[in-house]
Amino acid sequence: MESIFVSIASYRDNELDRTITDCLAKAAHPGRLVFGINWQHDNHDFFEQLYDRQCKVIDTDYRKSRGACWARHEAQKLYAGEDYVLQIDSHMRFVHGWDLICIDGITHLQQRANRKVIISNLMPSYDPEDDQNLPQRYLTYKLGPFNEAGSIQLKASILSHPPRERFSPGYSISAAFLFSIGDLYRDVLIDPDLYFEGEEISYAVRAYTHGYDIYHCHYPIVYHYYLRKPDRKHWDDHGDWGNRSITAKNRMRSLLMGSGEAPDLGPYGLGTLRSLKEYELAASVDFKNRTVRDADAPPLLSGREGIRSKLSSGKIGTAQIDPFSYCNVKCWYCPVRYDPQPVDARRHMPIGLFEKIIADLCRERDGGGLVAPGFDFIYTAHYNEILLYRHLAQMLEVLRRYGLRSMILTNGIALVRKKVDLVAEYDDVIGGQVCINISAFERDRWIENTVGENGAKTASKNARFHRTMDNIEYAVKKLGGVSIHLNEPDPEEAEKQAGIARRMFPSVDVRMIHNLSDRAGMLHDRGVLSNQDEIERKCSGKARIVGCANTFTGIDGRHFGWLHVNALGKAILCCNDYYFDYAFGDLESNSLREVWLSEGHVDAIEKSFLEICRKCSMAVWE
Ligand code: SF4
Repeated sequence: MESIFVSIASYRDNELDRTITDCLAKAAHPGRLVFGINWQHDNHDFFEQLYDRQCKVIDTDYRKSRGACWARHEAQKLYAGEDYVLQIDSHMRFVHGWDLICIDGITHLQQRANRKVIISNLMPSYDPEDDQNLPQRYLTYKLGPFNEAGSIQLKASILSHPPRERFSPGYSISAAFLFSIGDLYRDVLIDPDLYFEGEEISYAVRAYTHGYDIYHCHYPIVYHYYLRKPDRKHWDDHGDWGNRSITAKNRMRSLLMGSGEAPDLGPYGLGTLRSLKEYELAASVDFKNRTVRDADAPPLLSGREGIRSKLSSGKIGTAQIDPFSYCNVKCWYCPVRYDPQPVDARRHMPIGLFEKIIADLCRERDGGGLVAPGFDFIYTAHYNEILLYRHLAQMLEVLRRYGLRSMILTNGIALVRKKVDLVAEYDDVIGGQVCINISAFERDRWIENTVGENGAKTASKNARFHRTMDNIEYAVKKLGGVSIHLNEPDPEEAEKQAGIARRMFPSVDVRMIHNLSDRAGMLHDRGVLSNQDEIERKCSGKARIVGCANTFTGIDGRHFGWLHVNALGKAILCCNDYYFDYAFGDLESNSLREVWLSEGHVDAIEKSFLEICRKCSMAVWE
């Protein structure tokens, strides 16, 4: 049977004996418990070592005690590889079966993708004179605010009804009730030089950076005797407590704010699996500026739980399915010119797979599921030339069958008569929406901007330009609603090129696009163009990313409102995911629902908030 190490730091506390008695009596399997107790006492204190088989005791004269954190640190040393650890105060009561509740809770929470889980929270109080009537209280918790010393603590409030979820994610602990896997006591040693201030937030942040997720339980597992008015505390007996407290606050500030006088915390520093910044982002805390977001404020997307709930409660408004992600030219404003496309971009998605994805989307829409009721449009444009897709005709046929619409985004080179005629046959699908992405109408400028570096002879490049213009001319005549997107950031140059385009194709709608995307920093890094100023403006004074403003549908951004799929049927993050680094699921072998609600999707979004979106001007910061 799995064992539990119960760590107790007890200071001149006559409740210790009754706490152990209750802990054993209420456990479903008392035989699994091993107590490690730092018993700080004087001669008059009462503690019968009735449980000597199950108790390891550090017998400490209270005059030699160095405070609560030191006492917990010493008790921690008694841990001997038990499966779980329970850290409590010495004045507690328990609900029946608390050991099963804690282990089941850990097992359940581990299924959310992390083995390293802590359950810790404040708890309802009990009265030692009346401990047979433990109140059924449901608590909720929030962090903060910062006190003068620069510390924050959990605050609890009582809920009128039992909440639907037993556990919710949190970002601090209560040192008086903490349950976790045994590894916690190996990974995160309690700092003996902390005193009182900052003990809990320091341990929480250290545990988080060691990879632990903290959860609070809203239902009572243990009860705590808070008042303890007649009992002497460590600071009542130790005149030097003020010095200890100053040392402790310095250590806390060094850990959390980098501003204390203890630069080297040795084994009591941060972990290496996550950063302090990640903690701050997840918890909405800024230690240096001493701000913490009020948990009563309207809900923000917070951590994995927030991402999960937004994925399941929101709707997909639009899909970008890119059945062929390869491009035949190298426009100057596109990463294709500077970085080879990934091999997988050159695949042609089998039409059966394309139809399967479309069917999944429509099924979810029609069944009131993950897809918004108004969904009727897909994009097909991931750094590609969709007119080169081997199954273009079948693709249009599938869209027609499902009553969906799309558009053709093209550089114009492959917009040959045959393709124009095909598109014309599918007017119900394309509806004249052929958009030509181009950056110049002067021949030499077009060549330089588009195909200048492809090694072909000048005559061949010239011919290509003229063929492209012929293509546009035929498309304009045959299709009607053709538009030109003139991608040129310099307004003067854009006007010039637009003027030429309007003269060449008087009936065409020519739109000048000045704000070009640097593709999440790819083009900035290569000195091509930059969105850096805009990013800095948007993130100034903000702590974290909570979403994406890149949408045309009004339904959320790319993370939550769009489905993006590459030619292999892999769901990817967004159109800036050039290398498919944020692929999170396979729509060939799994349903849309399985992929969309998967932990892999949560991982990809969480990762994107810390990586790619930080380099993108479309990110939404809070
Ligand atoms: S990189 Fe992030 S913020 Fe930018 S478009 Fe993609 S999902 Fe949106």
